[in-house]
Amino acid sequence: MSALFLIEAIGGIQVISKIINAEIVEEGIQGSEILIRDGYIVSELESDEIVDNIIDAQGHYVSSGFIDSHVHVFEHMALNGINADDIGIRMGVTDVIDAGSTGSSDFYEFNKVIETSQTNVHALINIAKKGLVANLHELRDMNDLSDREEIEETIAQYPNKIIGIKVRLSASVVGDNGVAPLVEAIKIASSLELPIMVHIGNPPPYLPDVFPLLRSGDIVTHAFHGKKDNTILTKEGDLIAEAKSAIDRGVLFDVGHGSASFGFEVFGRFIQKYGQYDFSTSTDLHVRNVDGPVYSLMITLSKLYSYNIPLNSLLKTVTSIPSKVFNMKNKGSLLPGNKADITIFSIDKHSITLQDSLGVERELFYLFNAQKTIINGEVVWENNG
Ligand SMILES: [Zn+2]
Repeated sequence: MSALFLIEAIGGIQVISKIINAEIVEEGIQGSEILIRDGYIVSELESDEIVDNIIDAQGHYVSSGFIDSHVHVFEHMALNGINADDIGIRMGVTDVIDAGSTGSSDFYEFNKVIETSQTNVHALINIAKKGLVANLHELRDMNDLSDREEIEETIAQYPNKIIGIKVRLSASVVGDNGVAPLVEAIKIASSLELPIMVHIGNPPPYLPDVFPLLRSGDIVTHAFHGKKDNTILTKEGDLIAEAKSAIDRGVLFDVGHGSASFGFEVFGRFIQKYGQYDFSTSTDLHVRNVDGPVYSLMITLSKLYSYNIPLNSLLKTVTSIPSKVFNMKNKGSLLPGNKADITIFSIDKHSITLQDSLGVERELFYLFNAQKTIINGEVVWENNG
């Protein structure tokens, strides 16, 4: 045995795993096995390589790890923070994107969440310095916004952790400032080549003033909220012109279910008429909606699945679509070369009535259930219940 090989073996570097009996619905992937070396998916093993772990996925679907692109996991610091692993790996989610819980002032503390979670935690930095740490009306005073230098310095200090900027644009958040915080954020985001996630809600600002500002690759979360006077749809159920123009130029709509931000009716009409457009599925999970109406990303996906969206298309909304819009490297696919962060789940026949954020009920016949969560090629959680 060569010295080098010995060091590698002791260091546990050459870990080889194989997932067998996998039901895979991703286009371009054949067969039912996935090979993993050192935390990455590979196309084949050398003839003398020995498999260390066999992961049996019998009876279950296997997907590139689910990405929840809107959560709040600044536990003990932000007003609504929840534990990242509780809603991440323990719910079949390999990657969570915290949407603006922290701004530049407290990123040092947020980095501890990133460093101590088994779930991959990414951040959209709030354009407000204090994020959601001090209050939930963080954009009422324009002096509370970070400037370009503050955002740039934070990104430089914590490389590869900040994947975009968050701006919450509803009346309670911005006060009299309208779209001004967004205009400032876009200047900064453009110079740093980052996407912006905009939260929409109660007006003002009104959507016809918000959408024209957004660039290709920006994200609108809570896109399917059912709040009167400020929805993406006209009375007739068509997209308002500004929303249609936005998705046509590559603005991405995101679910961001939340306590108050997802309506079955709006979503149903959108899917019926505009089902060919990409969107992303996220939960906006935090301490106050995890016990309902949101519960988990699996429940949110179950709700959307009830609109007869093909499974392959629905899975893209939590894999390749978010990984692309947030420029996440080696994520979002089971193809060789990607990180072996993987979600194993089942879709079980189960009748249940669930509510949207408006209290409207809908009967579902299938539920997504998390079975195993794999990070870096290793099972970090499995469903024993
Ligand atoms: Zn949120």
